[in-house]
Amino acid sequence: MSKTIYQYDVIVVGAGHAGTEAAAAAARLGAKTALLTTNLDTVGQMSCNPAIGGVAKGHLVREIDALGGLMGQAIDASGIQFRMLNIRKGPAMNSPRAQADKKAYQNWVKFAIESQPNLDLRQEVVLDLLTEKSTAEAPPSSDDPATEKIIGVAVQGDVEYHAPAVILTTGTFLSALMHTGEAKTKGGRAGEGTTTGISAALARLNFRVARFKTGTPPRLNSRTIDYSKTEIQPGDDQPSPFSFLTDDFKVEQMPCWITFTNPAVHDLIRDNLHRAPMYSGQIQGSGPRYCPSIEDKVVKFADKDRHQLFLEPEGRQTQEVYVNGISTSLPRDVQDQMFKLIPGLENAQIMRYGYAVEYDFCPPEQLRSTLETKSVAGLYFAGQLNGTTGYEEAGAQGLIAGANSALKIAGREDFIVERNEGYIGVLIDDLVTCSVDEPYRMFTSRAEYRLLLRQDNADRRLTAKAVKFGLAGQDRAERLQTKEAAIAATLAKIESTRIEGVTLHKRLKRTETKWEELVELLPELGQVTAEVRQQVIYDVKYAGYVTRQQATVDKHKRLAKRKIPDHFDYQALPHLRMEAKEKLTRFRPTSLDQAQRISGITPADIAMVLLHLEKKIKN
Ligand code: FAD
Repeated sequence: MSKTIYQYDVIVVGAGHAGTEAAAAAARLGAKTALLTTNLDTVGQMSCNPAIGGVAKGHLVREIDALGGLMGQAIDASGIQFRMLNIRKGPAMNSPRAQADKKAYQNWVKFAIESQPNLDLRQEVVLDLLTEKSTAEAPPSSDDPATEKIIGVAVQGDVEYHAPAVILTTGTFLSALMHTGEAKTKGGRAGEGTTTGISAALARLNFRVARFKTGTPPRLNSRTIDYSKTEIQPGDDQPSPFSFLTDDFKVEQMPCWITFTNPAVHDLIRDNLHRAPMYSGQIQGSGPRYCPSIEDKVVKFADKDRHQLFLEPEGRQTQEVYVNGISTSLPRDVQDQMFKLIPGLENAQIMRYGYAVEYDFCPPEQLRSTLETKSVAGLYFAGQLNGTTGYEEAGAQGLIAGANSALKIAGREDFIVERNEGYIGVLIDDLVTCSVDEPYRMFTSRAEYRLLLRQDNADRRLTAKAVKFGLAGQDRAERLQTKEAAIAATLAKIESTRIEGVTLHKRLKRTETKWEELVELLPELGQVTAEVRQQVIYDVKYAGYVTRQQATVDKHKRLAKRKIPDHFDYQALPHLRMEAKEKLTRFRPTSLDQAQRISGITPADIAMVLLHLEKKIKN
């Protein structure tokens, strides 16, 4: 029987959060794209918490949207509760978060993928990666790693998909093992299998692979919860959408509920720690520090006599409730007993038990800033496979990998979001320059230019660049132009309107002045839309801070301009410290700016490399 071969420009493996953004981005840029995934019914599935956004993660979603991605529109269409977090902490810290109707979210994403021109969605199980020796004209050198190039993938049945670019976004599925107490099951998500063929291919191609773990809490039947013993947590009175395309945002919000663990629950957990896979030695991989299991919380915060639990509905047409804050891999009988001790949950029926999953990931220092692997040309990694955790981090990487794969095969320039342009830039730069030793999640503290990178101005930072590359469409370009024009007109108005010798601009600059006071002085300002008003206020009030931050950015840009050639031989620098030689060879930074952010690299090391770069130029 002859082999069936399909030819594409870009193949994306896995239709989770990274895969769907990757495939849509590649297709938007005109690449003929195939999105291959094990099960069409799990496209865009939320493996864990049915929520999008949160501190710093909300910024990522706004940026994905500003770049033409799917996630923002998907959550606006399917959200059941919207809240702006950190509202008292100032604009740089505000982050949107929304509870999703899990099935509606998936359906929206699947429909968007199905409707995308240039994109074929297929149910296929990918078994192997097809490569051949690279004949690229890159200068041959002893440490030139790109000796292989990707040519496609083999799937179940005698079928191959061929393409010059392949993006792997297999999430938690590589050699995955689930744990509930002593019970172990092969699989990356309850009810689904594991992916061993790709793990074997990665080993054959000499990729460094390591192991992480994550966990999920039990889901309860809402009908069996006594909400009278819990506190209500409503959504915002005026919910804000994630997408810059969403107008007239109206949503019928559902409440979440809050309850707490107590000393009796903690005693029960302590008594059963020897049966928890993390503590019995059954699990080896590290877990997400910022999303610990209840076992971890009880051990690490032994002085706390209660932990908050959020009861979050999984959708409008299901009784399933996600219990946020009690992720666990304790055995079923302990999970049953635990809930009997929690106010409101004494009679709650568990619909799905909590579990932990251990999986392979590829430490991301093996990637370039485009997310292409350094050793196999045309092969890209995105999402949880790179050691991150979270839908938003996965989606952001997917978009960057998808865009760059399409640009590379079209012979175009790379699409890089810099650290001063977006949290997406911070995320990818952190991954490729510092790698990860625990699951990586985004925080506002990871960004050094927080005042520039606010969630409210993601479109003003990124949309023009996305439009220039063809990643975002004309509709976004026109909206941005209209908004910028309105901001400029309002700023001009308040600069030119002088009342009692003081311009409105100067009045607004004072910390205590509210917009309403300006409207009293000049009623036509009452017509300014909320979106434009917010930008004008921030542009005026934070101008000083923004200018100072911009000056630091400019300094770093000058340093970043000093590019380091791909094959720069650090070993040949006689006075460079051994640690610096080892780290710079391992991470292969592309610029001096990137080099100075590698942990353990000192200013003296940078000066040494700079000296040699300058010598090379002179020779
Ligand atoms: P996924 O969303 O997992 O998508 C991977 C896709 O690849 C799937 O569609 C799968 O079917 C497909 N696939 C796999 N192998 C193949 C193959 N061989 N051929 C074709 N298709 C394939 N994140 C948090 O932020 N906080 C948490 O507390 C948290 N807990 C989690 C608990 C569990 C049990 C799990 C499983 C995940 C948890 N996560 C958590 C992680 C979150 O789900 C991921 O970060 C996110 O889904 C990663 O997106 P992704 O696109 O990289 O992978």
